[in-house]
Amino acid sequence: MSICQGIMPDEMARPLIRERGEGRGSRRLEASMSDPGAPVVGILGTGDFSRSLARRLVASGYQVVVGSRTPKRSVALFPEEAEVTSQMEAANQADLVFVAVFPEHHSTLVELKPALAGKTLVDVSNGLKISLEGPSNAELLADLFPESSVVKGFNTISAWALQMGPRDGSRQVFLCSDSSTAKSSVMLLCRRMGFVPVDMGLLSSSLEVENLPLYLFPSWHIPVLCTLSLFVFFYLYNFVRDVLQPYIMAGKSVFYKMPIETVNVTLPSVALVMLSLVYLPGLCAAFLQLWWGTKYNRFPNWLDRWLTRRKQFGLCSFLCAVLHAIYSLCLPLRKSARYKLLNMAAKQVKEGVDDSWVNEEVWRMELYLSAGIVALGLLSLLAVTSLPSVSNTVNWREFSFIQSTLGYCALSMATLHTLLYGWDRAFDPTQYRFLLPPTFVLVLILPLTALLGRLALCVPCVAGRLRQIRRGWEKSRHIRFTLPDDGCRNGLEDVSHV
Ligand code: NAP
Repeated sequence: MSICQGIMPDEMARPLIRERGEGRGSRRLEASMSDPGAPVVGILGTGDFSRSLARRLVASGYQVVVGSRTPKRSVALFPEEAEVTSQMEAANQADLVFVAVFPEHHSTLVELKPALAGKTLVDVSNGLKISLEGPSNAELLADLFPESSVVKGFNTISAWALQMGPRDGSRQVFLCSDSSTAKSSVMLLCRRMGFVPVDMGLLSSSLEVENLPLYLFPSWHIPVLCTLSLFVFFYLYNFVRDVLQPYIMAGKSVFYKMPIETVNVTLPSVALVMLSLVYLPGLCAAFLQLWWGTKYNRFPNWLDRWLTRRKQFGLCSFLCAVLHAIYSLCLPLRKSARYKLLNMAAKQVKEGVDDSWVNEEVWRMELYLSAGIVALGLLSLLAVTSLPSVSNTVNWREFSFIQSTLGYCALSMATLHTLLYGWDRAFDPTQYRFLLPPTFVLVLILPLTALLGRLALCVPCVAGRLRQIRRGWEKSRHIRFTLPDDGCRNGLEDVSHV
């Protein structure tokens, strides 16, 4: 256990961690810095992780002993307060040992087995790729050292985060072990280092813990793919209608529209379709429950996955809406817009006519912009409340009010914005270039379906039945009553399955 000495006044002025070479250059443990109750912490390996961990442990008041195959080579890399010695010596001295060695080399440590018996081993290793089938590195280490208690953890914390300390980077450390005593001691150490331990249960969870740092935005794949596919589809659609058609039919070159105008018509299309995709799975789920007459049937996998990705769909929609707003604000800055304006004004002066004020157009534009601004404002609110730090401060009712009620308001306003943009052009045959309907006609299909579906669920008898189902009522289990068909049964027959 730790060596205890009193702290001398002149020692108070010394820096917390000294680099080797500063001061007296002692390689022995600086017991004066450490808590007498704290265990001696060993680290096997002298790589990046080991060095950062040693610094953090020393700064947290622990005595640290580092085990290396070549201690002389590595000694200069560690703070003076840490002792760098042989692997065997470190294993003998320490009560709790971090194995900061790649899992491929764990087997080279077997000769330390007697020295590590009865001690806690912390496996910090990560795999190279996501593994869905065990055994995990930690389980293999536990098989290698059956007399030690293996704790999996710290693998999600980078050497850099350890060096910078918990104020910068993730503070959570996921821990699991079959030994509750060993896990508790590592949790305590974790807290003393300023991190937040998260108990992940038994060592069988170690595979999940090892996979954690290897995921690449797992819940974003489908929403991002959907956004990109919709973008490509609508961009090509708009390109064919607005750029290619005038070129082929009238030899008019408007290719300059491609970087801004075409993108700016595409972005709101994607935003609105993605926003509808946030609300459609909830509607599908509700109609399925009504159809089944129970909430206890499992949803199909595709719907399950869709339901859990709604936040990501919403955030992709928000991104497209924000980009659309920025693009729209930049439209008048373009040279092409200025030329068009000047040409129009010059033409009107030349012809001596002033037909630039069309009341209907003016009103349509005012309403269209206003609906767009309100929709963007509501979407921003939804995006902000989807942040965990904000959503944690509201209760369930407030959260569902914002995400559902205000969400449908945002969808309604965005749909209105698109309807006002389209106005009566859906009924103008000249708008059907190459027989393709205007983009907004296609875009409106899903949001209108979502809004009509929501309205259908508001019909009192439908809403009432759905409420019953969500409170546990089941069509197949409710008590039905049949009238007696003969004189033998003089009452009511319970045909429920209960
Ligand atoms: P590293 O820089 O390559 O260090 C590995 C150390 O293992 C070496 O310095 C070596 O120290 C020691 N070792 C012991 N036996 C060995 C053997 N037979 N062959 C090779 N080396 C041996 O690696 P690292 O980045 O510190 O990572 C160490 C462990 O921490 C890995 O399991 C990694 O997955 C995990 N981890 C690392 C980070 C990070 O940010 N680096 C983050 C989370 C988890 P001696 O030569 O002194 O014995």
